[in-house]
Amino acid sequence: MIPFIDLTRQHAGIRADLLTAAARVLDSARFILGGEGEALERELAALAGVRHAIGVASGTDALRLALTAVGVGPGDEVITPAFSFVASASTIVMVGATPVFVDIDRETYALEAGAVERAITRRTRAIIPVHLYGHPAPIDRIAALARTHGLALVEDAAQAIGATHDGRPVGGWGDAACLSFYPTKNLGACGDGGMVLTDRDDVAERVRRLRHHGDGGRYRHLELGYTARLDELQAAILRVKLGHLGAWTDARRRIAERYRTLLAGLPLGLPGERPGARHVYHLYTVRHPQRDALAKALADLGVGTAVHYPIPVPAQPMFGVGLSEVVRAAGRPRSRRRSASEASLGESAERRWPEASRAAREVLSLPCFAELRDEEVEAVAAAVRRACERI
Ligand SMILES: *Cc1c(COP(=O)(O)O)cnc(C)c1O
Repeated sequence: MIPFIDLTRQHAGIRADLLTAAARVLDSARFILGGEGEALERELAALAGVRHAIGVASGTDALRLALTAVGVGPGDEVITPAFSFVASASTIVMVGATPVFVDIDRETYALEAGAVERAITRRTRAIIPVHLYGHPAPIDRIAALARTHGLALVEDAAQAIGATHDGRPVGGWGDAACLSFYPTKNLGACGDGGMVLTDRDDVAERVRRLRHHGDGGRYRHLELGYTARLDELQAAILRVKLGHLGAWTDARRRIAERYRTLLAGLPLGLPGERPGARHVYHLYTVRHPQRDALAKALADLGVGTAVHYPIPVPAQPMFGVGLSEVVRAAGRPRSRRRSASEASLGESAERRWPEASRAAREVLSLPCFAELRDEEVEAVAAAVRRACERI
C-alpha cells in the first residue's frame, strides 16, 4: 500500500529537534505572542522578500484579516477563482463582501488576467489569485491589472510557499498574501497556523491588531478583533521544519520530474510549469475524463489518491442555503434567489464556469511528498499505467 501522504515519515527524521523545540516553549511557559513567533515572522518575511510577516491562527484567518486590513467590507466585490479550496471565497463572505467567481485557465488552474479584467465592475475592490497546487498564477499581469484599476491584491499562497514567478517569490506581489500551515501543507504545523505577508506598514499594523482583539495596548480595544494568533508551540515547530523546506521542495520537484517521464504517453493530463514559473508541487494533480474509475482502479492496486477539489466553489452547498444572493458570476446580474438546490447549483456552474466544472470532474492527485521513496514513485507510475489500460 502506498499512502497518499504520510507525515509520520517526515516526523521520524526530525523527531528529536521537534521535541527539543516543544520543550523549549514548555519551559519558557510563554505560549502566546513571544520570541518563537517573532523569529518565525522574521524568517518567513525574508524568505518571501517582504517587510512584514504576521503569524495568525490559520490560513483562513490570514485571508480574512488581510481582506479587512486592505479595506474590503460590505458592498464590495472581490474576484476569486471558481476552482480552489473553499476558503479562497468563504473568507470574502466572512468580511461581508461578495465573491465574484471567475473561471480558471485549463493548464495552470489559475486566474488568467484577461478573464479577471472582464469581471471588474465599479464595485470591485480586490482580487484573490490562488497559486493552486503550488504553481504560481500569472501574478505579474494580475498585479499590473490591480494597479491600473486601483484594486487591492491579496495572494492566496496557502499551497505555494517557495514558488517563484520570474525568479521572484509568490507572496510579495500585492498588498498582502496568506500562507497556511495546515499539517499537510508544504510547511505544516502540528495543528493549525497561518501567516499574512505584506510590504505595507499599515496593513501589517492592522493585522497585528485584528489578530489580538483589536488591541491598542493596556486593554484598550480600538476596533472589533479576534483571537487569531499563531501560538508559540506551533511557531517553534515550524522553525524546525523551515530549516528543511528547501530540501523537501527539491524532493517534491524531483518526484514530479520522475512522474513526468514515467507517465509520458498515457491518456492523462500532466501538470506542467509555465515558462518563468517554479512549481513547488504541493499537489501532483493529473486529469483523466474517467477520474472516478481511475481512482477506484488505483485504490484496488494499493495506491492512495485524493481529489482536490470535487465541486467548483460557487456550486458548494453553502452557497445554496441562504447565501446564493451573495454569489455573483462575472458579467451577470446579481442573483436574487434565496436558495438553490445542489443540482441547480451544479448546472449553473457548468454553464458559467466550464473549466472549473471540468476540472472538478477530472482532477486526481497522486502521492507526492518528500519522503516518498524512488521505488514507490515507480510503483505508483506502473499502477497508473495498468489502471489506464483497464478503464
Ligand atoms: C489550506 C488552504 C487555505 C486555508 O488554510 P487553513 O490553514 O486550512 O485555514 C486557503 N486557501 C487555500 C488554497 C488552501 O489550500
